[in-house]
Parts: sequence; structure tokens; C-alpha cells
Amino acid sequence: MNGSSILMIYTGGTIGMKQDPLDQTLKPFDFGQIQEEVPEIRKYAMKIDSFTFDPLIDSSDVDPTMWQALATLIRDNYDRYDGFVVLHGTDTMSYSASALSFMLDNLSKPVVFTGSQLPIGMPRTDGKENLISAVEIAAAKDPEGHALVPEVCIFFDSKLLRGNRSTKVSSEDFMAFRSPNYPSLAEAGISIKYNTGAILKPESWTDPLRVNTSLDTRVSILKIHPGITPKVMRHIMCGDETRAVILETYGSGNAPSGQWFMDIVREASASGKVLLNVTQCMSGTVNMDIYATGKNLKRAGVVSGLDITTESALGKLFYLMGKSKDNAWVKTHLEDNLKGEISK
Ligand code: ASP
Repeated sequence: MNGSSILMIYTGGTIGMKQDPLDQTLKPFDFGQIQEEVPEIRKYAMKIDSFTFDPLIDSSDVDPTMWQALATLIRDNYDRYDGFVVLHGTDTMSYSASALSFMLDNLSKPVVFTGSQLPIGMPRTDGKENLISAVEIAAAKDPEGHALVPEVCIFFDSKLLRGNRSTKVSSEDFMAFRSPNYPSLAEAGISIKYNTGAILKPESWTDPLRVNTSLDTRVSILKIHPGITPKVMRHIMCGDETRAVILETYGSGNAPSGQWFMDIVREASASGKVLLNVTQCMSGTVNMDIYATGKNLKRAGVVSGLDITTESALGKLFYLMGKSKDNAWVKTHLEDNLKGEISK
């Protein structure tokens, strides 16, 4: 770790906010102040440079343009640093970490997202510990000098999670994120214990990083619920502006079996749209072979998302659709485990 160099990228979010004395709302402040708030990071014998997004953004304003900027920034600085720490608002952190995991191919260095529930200037903040541990993880290497965690991940409340397996589960607890279908990559206690067997390694440590910034965002998410109407469903699923639909279904991938419901699914499928089945459940997997209702979806050409999170499904579709105009190709590769996002 000594002698490592880290680029800390501050995009915005609570971690770098303070209260405006005029109206008491939280507003972003200059990143220079973060380093003043966390003098501990200066004690590491490593080089920590910083880059601040302009403008700083509340992560509710994150969009694919921001992911493209972030991926490009990492690519442009890749050879100069051993690891990257991305300070990001918690609201869409799982979306960003998921998208980046698909956009950065052959990653051999850590990209560790973190943030906080309480601004770093507040007495009981979780921001300091999150930031300091994220820096340590981004710099950690094995005896051969390879990064211990060459993945896009999220460090929060003592746990390191694979980014594309994570989801925000609490708007107020310090334990704001969970990875319901995959173990933690590391846990921070007195020391940081790495779960090396669970961490992905690049196919080759010497191949260069490849960055895919071409994203096709024509994806809709439809959460199935009792009382959903044909009009709403057709509007979301069959419009020309939609190329793919993530169907958030019940349990192991089930949906209503009524004639009108299946007619709309078949209509969307027949028109060539990519339909991906993701469960609304916090944990577990889609299995369209258990119930008749799931089987109907499978017969209609709906692809199983297995145990993927909705955040990850969105990033995976943006990425695959950005790579090819051929929806049949997209469907085939949706079933592949690209970056450890599904259990297969
Ligand atoms: N609204 C903030 C954001 O996501 C919340 C946070 O940082 O926790 O940017």
C-alpha cells in the first residue's frame, strides 16, 4: 500500500455537503474542504490526488452522460494511478457502480464507490470511516503487486460489495447498502479481511483497459402490481421509443396470467422488443419453470434475469444495446454472466 497512488473523484452527494446557514438545506461544498475534514488520509504514505466534478451533483441528477464522463476520466488517468475512489451520492450509487462495471472492460485496478448518510462535517458522520477504508481498499495489493480488488465495488458501513450486486436498502441507516445475492468482497474490522475467493480477476493483468461509452438508453422498467391496467402496460411496453423492458415481476418471476396481460407481452415480444424478467424480491432468483404464469412469459420470449438487481439489469441493457443494434444478439448476451452480476 505504501507508495501507491490513488485518484479520488468527487462527484457530489451527502458526503461532501454542508448545511446552508440561510435555508438549512444541504448543499455541496468545495472538495478541498473534504481533505480538511479528513486529515487522517494525509497519514497514509501514498499519493492521493483529487478531481472534482463541475458542477457537483446530487446523485438524483445522475444520468448516462455522467457515467460516460466518469469512465472517460478513469481511462484517461488509468496508467497514472493504482486505484480510484469515487465519492458519490447514495441515492443512485448502485446504478452508477453497476453501469461502470459493464463499461470498464478488463479492469485490473479497483474502482471503489463510497459516500455517506451524514455529511462528513457532522459529529457522528459515517463519511470519514467510509472514505478512509475506501482509500485503503483502492490501494491494497497482493504480494505480486496486483490489486486485491480489481472490480467496481461499493464500500459502505464496513462492507465491500460488488457494485453490480448492490442495492440501496435504507434511507437512514448507516447500513444503507446490501448485496442480497452475493457475499461481501471484504469486511472492515480491526483489519480489512478480503474474501479473495469471491473477488473477480481480469482475464489478463497485462491487457489494456477497454472503455465502452456507447450506451443505448431506450429501456423502460415496469413494476407489475395488482390493478395494473392494459392501457398503462401497453403504453410502457409497446411504444416505438422503447427497445427493451425490464419487467419487475413477483416472486420467482411470476406475472398475471390473464389473456389481456399475455397479449400485450406477446405483442411487445413479436415487435422485437427485448423483455427481461427481474424479481421484485430483495433476494432470490427468477425461475420461469416453476409456475404456469412464469412459463407463459418464457414462451412469449421473455428472458430470465436470474438473480440480477434492477440497477444492474438497467446498466447491462444500456451497455449491450449500445454495442449492437441486433436485439436477438442482446437477448443472447443478457443471459451471459458478464461481470459477476448473476449467479450462473
Ligand atoms: N441525495 C443524496 C445523493 O444521493 C443522498 C446521499 O448522498 O446520500 O446525492
